[in-house]
Amino acid sequence: MTDLERKHDRAPVPRDWTYAPAPESREIVRLDERYGHFVGGEWLEPAETYETISPASEETLATIGQATREEVDRAVGAARSAFADGWSSLPGSERAKYLFRIARILQERSRELAVLDGKPIKESRDVDLPLAAAHFFYYAGWADKLEYAFPNRAPRPVGVAGQIIPWNFPLLMLAWKIAPALACGNTVVLKPAETTPLTALLFCDVLRQAELPAGVVNIVTGDGRTGAAIVDHADVDKIAFTGSTEVGKAIQRQLAGSGKKLTLELGGKAANIVFDDCALDQAVEGIVNGIYFNQGHVCCAGSRLLVQESIYEPLVEKLKRRLETLRVGDPLDKNTDVGAINSRMQLEKIQELVAAGEEEGAEIYQPPCRLPEKGYWFAPTVFTNVAQSYRIAQEEIFGPVLSVLTFRTPEEAVEKANNTPYGLSAGVWTEKGSRILWMAQRLRAGVVWANTFNRFDPSSPFGGYKESGFGREGGLHGLEPYLRFDE
Ligand code: NDP
Repeated sequence: MTDLERKHDRAPVPRDWTYAPAPESREIVRLDERYGHFVGGEWLEPAETYETISPASEETLATIGQATREEVDRAVGAARSAFADGWSSLPGSERAKYLFRIARILQERSRELAVLDGKPIKESRDVDLPLAAAHFFYYAGWADKLEYAFPNRAPRPVGVAGQIIPWNFPLLMLAWKIAPALACGNTVVLKPAETTPLTALLFCDVLRQAELPAGVVNIVTGDGRTGAAIVDHADVDKIAFTGSTEVGKAIQRQLAGSGKKLTLELGGKAANIVFDDCALDQAVEGIVNGIYFNQGHVCCAGSRLLVQESIYEPLVEKLKRRLETLRVGDPLDKNTDVGAINSRMQLEKIQELVAAGEEEGAEIYQPPCRLPEKGYWFAPTVFTNVAQSYRIAQEEIFGPVLSVLTFRTPEEAVEKANNTPYGLSAGVWTEKGSRILWMAQRLRAGVVWANTFNRFDPSSPFGGYKESGFGREGGLHGLEPYLRFDE
């Protein structure tokens, strides 16, 4: 008889520590059966539609518009009129009021938006929503200070911004795009990803509530064809794109010579580098957060773990043990750590790369966990025995899959970390400040986290090197792509 059971005879100590279900109520969200495009402050009845589904249950949620070129043209026209009719010449202090209002309404309606976002509720509630509101607050603060941000450069808005966002952070990416654009006096046509349009559509209601002038923000839904129509449109002055490197390259080719401003935030294959002097348990938490946060659907995910050889065994053992405690399942359960994979297509991509990892000779570990029968799911996965040449060490998997490699010296860590076509982020775990600085100077990554990972703040610029794109979002730097200067 174990100690615990003996105690149980005397006092009511539970034998089974399984968490009780803690579902967030869906009651707060009222979904319409059908949505159009938000153009000029009105709902435009779409000519073509598609169904959007929940990846956790495969149930149909709503009918969504698939914007045609004509509909995109109307949205751009509405944005142009709003730009010319007053938004661009409104004093910054007045524009700021709208941004502050939007931020406050996002806070007030955060539960509703967090439930609708469809991801593990503790992440959408604790990360996406607070950060989305923080972005609007932050850029509201800049709206009347552009002359101070860029002294003697006479900053002016660019015009109509076409913004195309992915499915991994539907509302947060919208905030990253819209807040700086409006703060600088631009108007916007935004397309959310085909699979995640709902929070962007509810955001239109937030805009109405904030009484944002009609046409300042227009939202058109649809797939890549709608995105391409925005990129193509002759009256769009700037394109901001977040998504795959492949589509980013195609957009860059398409825009070459057009004079349109462009920022690209593309993929990544970040190295999370763990030295033998680090606080091991904290590092394990950081590794887990780095790759399993948001199902690994994170462009800056720490998907390549580089471990100093001397601590390889204890670290991998701790990591595997920690993986056993991750809870995979219903995204609306407040205890869930890992939710559904965004789409069948993405699930198949993850499965293909994981199969490639096994074929190439890596050793796979998945903790025992029962995946729901309906929906798209993938268990948290760790690959050890990975060589740098393997596809799982080279390609962005964009799922809950970690590849573990080793190194002996800091020089070797830098060389391996930089051995990638990407350059978005990196992590360093060590107790030595001097080593953090030494590493940060050598890592070719837009963001280097030290003894933490996946930390975001609106005041901190974010963006990549190499095939991870160019341009920065967030901070003072995030204003620049939305401004023209007299120089
Ligand atoms: P995409 O690059 O296709 O999607 C990003 C956005 O671009 C979506 O809104 C998409 O619309 C739109 N789009 C697609 N084609 C075009 C086009 N020709 N012109 C303009 N816009 C277009 O990414 P996927 O969703 O296909 O994901 C594929 C892979 O990309 C993932 O597995 C992951 O590796 C990577 N990715 C990286 C992201 C990042 O943050 N860096 C985010 C998302 C994906 P639609 O949704 O309809 O396709």
